[in-house]
Amino acid sequence: MDYDRQPYRRCGRSGLLLPAVSLGLWHNFGEGKPVETQRAILHKALDLGITHFDIADRYGPPFGAAESAFGRIFPKSLRDEVVVTTKGFNPMWDGPYGYGGSRKHLLATLDRSRARLGLDFVDIFYLHRDDEETPLEETAATLDHMVRTGRTLYVGVSNFSPERTAAIARLLRGLGTPLLVHQPSYSLLNRGIEDALLDVLEQEGVGCVVYSPLAQGLLTDRYLDGIPADSRAAEGRFLTPDRVTPQVLAFVRALSAIATARGQSVAQLALAWALRDPRITSVLVGASSPEQLEANVACVDRLDFTDDELTAIEQAAKE
Ligand code: NDP
Repeated sequence: MDYDRQPYRRCGRSGLLLPAVSLGLWHNFGEGKPVETQRAILHKALDLGITHFDIADRYGPPFGAAESAFGRIFPKSLRDEVVVTTKGFNPMWDGPYGYGGSRKHLLATLDRSRARLGLDFVDIFYLHRDDEETPLEETAATLDHMVRTGRTLYVGVSNFSPERTAAIARLLRGLGTPLLVHQPSYSLLNRGIEDALLDVLEQEGVGCVVYSPLAQGLLTDRYLDGIPADSRAAEGRFLTPDRVTPQVLAFVRALSAIATARGQSVAQLALAWALRDPRITSVLVGASSPEQLEANVACVDRLDFTDDELTAIEQAAKE
């Protein structure tokens, strides 16, 4: 593990440091991906000082497969050198207790996740989404219970609105279990959190770990010459080919010119740009190869932006 390869940033007003670039296992750790590739990506991550692995009960396919893969591959001797997350809320099994924000579902899904991961406890448990049908009090009390029973060290939320984030942060503070982190989507193609969420997180002292900072690969050179057969857009499950529009490609080309002048790839520029705000704790990237991951972590070699560069990026975004 090379702890000098990238900076570690404080997660909100907590004691926890996370690497600027973290790895997510949403894709590439399910059936159909060679185990050798999965192993190579995880070992490359460790080499690159990635101490933070983001998983969820559903990641696969099938559901649970990414947790099982991580449990098989990850060297347990490094347990205390990494932060392992999982999430719950989305449907996992049949019936009324197979999904949602109830105490009944959340405790069961976390216990199943721990079994698949082969871990006594995870480091962060996230509510994957807001469940407006379950009282927030019940959900917050369940998160607090998970910490007190040693199932997770910290708790977070994902895809919550600014208002509901503030509400659950208050409830959790009252219970003595601070909300550690929020996990929203954020990239040059999806800037919604700039409107209000980031201010709420700053006020509440909550960290921000952003997902899909490369817009699932759109903010790279992957699609500039068409849709490669081995790409996520070709797979078409979560990124469909119709999202590769002429406008997106024109934006990526404009960004490429700025990136080249900075000595970066467009992907590195997109990641550095997301990290320019100190309220962003970490960017959560995906990678279908160790080479992609290594290239992405190299974004940390040039994190600063001149005012002219930021203006040029804003201009490109408007065109
Ligand atoms: P990214 O935006 O980083 O997209 C990753 C994909 O982009 C890769 O799989 C690869 O696609 C392509 N790519 C990455 N690096 C390069 C590169 N250097 N050059 C060319 N192409 C590249 O993130 P994800 O969408 O994968 O999300 C990251 C993580 O965030 C997930 O694994 C998950 O942990 C989390 N997440 C959380 C969600 C939530 O609701 N909380 C929702 C979504 C994600 P290809 O396969 O085409 O090579």
